[in-house]
Amino acid sequence: MNTKIAREIIENAIREGRVYLNEIESKKIAAAYDIPVVKIDVAKSMDEAKNLANKIGYPVVLKIFSPDVLHKSDVGGVKINLKSESDVEKAYNEIMDNVKKNVPNARIEGVVVQEFAPFGLEVIIGGLYDQFFGPTIMFGLGGVWVEVLKDVTFRLAPIDENEAEDMIKEIKGYALLKGYRGQPPVSIDAIKRALANASKLMYDNQEIKEMDLNPVLAYPDSVKVVDARIILRTKE
Ligand code: ADP
Ligand code: MG
Repeated sequence: MNTKIAREIIENAIREGRVYLNEIESKKIAAAYDIPVVKIDVAKSMDEAKNLANKIGYPVVLKIFSPDVLHKSDVGGVKINLKSESDVEKAYNEIMDNVKKNVPNARIEGVVVQEFAPFGLEVIIGGLYDQFFGPTIMFGLGGVWVEVLKDVTFRLAPIDENEAEDMIKEIKGYALLKGYRGQPPVSIDAIKRALANASKLMYDNQEIKEMDLNPVLAYPDSVKVVDARIILRTKE
């Protein structure tokens, strides 16, 4: 763990008067707390995007990098599973066109190029600073499970790995984590480590109002964060 990195990123954002941390900053903070994230970097041009894709290794994902776009796929700003330079070129142009059309005044800083994580069970790790209770940690399954069924559970942060395991076991969708319809079970150990570390992240950095690691892909032996958003509290 290198928790100093997280402090530096947060303090820098506060100095700049920002409450939204970008995807790179948010993932660096998660990684600083030993939560596994995909390899990621920013490209400011098409050429840089191609170079980064070659460096990271195919397949890759391209996402819009803009302080004015919070929900990237809603505006056509995410292209996944790109397998070649020509895929990257096409995706780059499509993302730029989509974002310019859908968010005309968006400041575009480039694209994020990242490792494409293979199919896995989508889970969500969240954090919320509650005005009465202070930092809290949330866990749930991704997709319709959280949107329609609200199958999530909360604790006050920080939690240890035993408490994290209790959280994992108490969601209704727990059966899915243990394997379903021929799918292998995912690593409960990897999820509980990520949850305990995320709870420490929330506890150590109480300027954070909201953290959304969504989705986190869960595999038989590991987890990987593919999207991360952190919002800071504003001083009233
Ligand atoms: P949004 O801002 O719309 O939430 P995301 O970064 O979550 O954008 O991307 C949308 C979806 O694309 C994710 O929910 C996930 O299914 C998929 N995705 C994003 N990044 C990756 C990645 N690195 N590897 C694999 N799938 C990804
Ligand atoms: Mg997302």
